[in-house]
Amino acid sequence: MEFFDDAVNKTKEVFDVVSKKTGEVINAGKLKYEIASVRSKVKKDYEKLGEIYYNQIKDGEDIPEEVKEIIADIKEKKDKEAELNTALGSLKDCVVCPKCGAAQDKSANFCNVCGEKIDF
Ligand SMILES: [Zn+2]
Repeated sequence: MEFFDDAVNKTKEVFDVVSKKTGEVINAGKLKYEIASVRSKVKKDYEKLGEIYYNQIKDGEDIPEEVKEIIADIKEKKDKEAELNTALGSLKDCVVCPKCGAAQDKSANFCNVCGEKIDF
């Protein structure tokens, strides 16, 4: 059950990221879009990082604070991307229970948390 609970929690986190609309179908396409969006932001960070680093290092100076901040920022985005990828891997098409908000498999007839009928 622990693994299952974990998967449900992961899916819930994804709902928080992608959408909170009750009954809306969350599909892999939306998650893939989110992942692509995070990746493109990281790419821009890399560019910024490269420019700052180059300007600094060519004058023989130490690693600037700004660079350390961007690296921390990139790490955060990478972690988010990994989370989204994990969720994508464990996600079939899901719906949000209209009563309790729990993530439910699209094919489910009843919520496995509160027992509400699900018929989207
Ligand atoms: Zn429910």
